[in-house]
Amino acid sequence: MKIHNFSPGPSILPQSVFEKAAQGVLDLNGSGLSILEVSHRGKDFIAIHEQAKQLVKELLQVPDTYHILFLAGGASSQFFMTPLNCLPQDGRAAYVDTGSWSSKAIKEAKRYGQVDVIASSKADGYKYIPKSFTVPSEAAYLHLTSNNTIYGTQFHQFPQCDIPIVCDMSSDIFSRPVDINRFGIIYAGAQKNMGPAGVTLVIIREDMLGKANRDIPSMLDYKVHIEGDSMYNTPPVFPIYVSMLTLDWLKDQGGVKSIEEINQQKAKVLYDEIDRNPLFIGVAAPEDRSLMNVTFLLKDQALEKPFLEMCKQIGCDGVKGHRSVGGFRASIYNAMPLEGVEALVGAMQQFEKQMG
Ligand SMILES: *Cc1c(COP(=O)(O)O)cnc(C)c1O
Repeated sequence: MKIHNFSPGPSILPQSVFEKAAQGVLDLNGSGLSILEVSHRGKDFIAIHEQAKQLVKELLQVPDTYHILFLAGGASSQFFMTPLNCLPQDGRAAYVDTGSWSSKAIKEAKRYGQVDVIASSKADGYKYIPKSFTVPSEAAYLHLTSNNTIYGTQFHQFPQCDIPIVCDMSSDIFSRPVDINRFGIIYAGAQKNMGPAGVTLVIIREDMLGKANRDIPSMLDYKVHIEGDSMYNTPPVFPIYVSMLTLDWLKDQGGVKSIEEINQQKAKVLYDEIDRNPLFIGVAAPEDRSLMNVTFLLKDQALEKPFLEMCKQIGCDGVKGHRSVGGFRASIYNAMPLEGVEALVGAMQQFEKQMG
């Protein structure tokens, strides 16, 4: 039976990527060596790294004023690296709190300077994206989480402001076109929509650097990683390789504009069923619904177990909701085909019939 993987992360990747990655482990490009044993300074990996950077540039149309880094430590390390590098000791930064990942970013930033939480939807269980707030123009940057993986909300428009936006795009990078010029820094852990766990993409504009007037450990210093071209120390070779293969797959799909259309179509099929099916109800405010993580509940909680059992029987894996929201969450990242979403919708319809 075909298993459809709705896991929030690490998450689904294209089958063709698994096959190429497996081949690379056995014999990289006919070199007789495995990707797992080659030097990160050898010609094979240098070519892979260059291609990965090139694909990022091409897919997101990144201008030359930006640097592209592949770092270790997860998106969570960016929670402190961004303020450490970009928030001056006597400065302030503005944060919007749209969920637990935002709150974690806020907690870390407070170690380095003044943090103004200018908007939050916490009191309402993070069910919506705050919209009417003023961004202080004296702040060093505005930090946003573009897609809230746990609650299933997403910024469909980024706020207008005249300071750079620092954005955690871990769970929706490469799912839609974005205007890079609005952002000073974009960061994303690979394991939601770009590749396997173990590497974090950081896209950083030159003018964000050198403003923090503090002593920064080398491994945490963006400038050091830029000067070393992500090779100040040994980079996560295999995760970079698999991310490159995934981005190459995305390019074959027609790039981010084409995948956005497919993502919209997939999300619509699922949200339409949630809205139609009398047993279910959506979690997120309709105008802020995420195209990546679809959160929903059964009106009768007692039915959760039997529904999860049916999902399992039908081959839909990883639909259990996050413990802080409950219910269900279907993560339908780029690599999830429409047929996977249709299988889940089929389970919801079959469940309705059984209960009726
Ligand atoms: C998963 C996730 C993170 C944490 O990523 P790690 O790589 O595990 O540190 C941060 N932000 C968002 C939006 C996420 O979805």
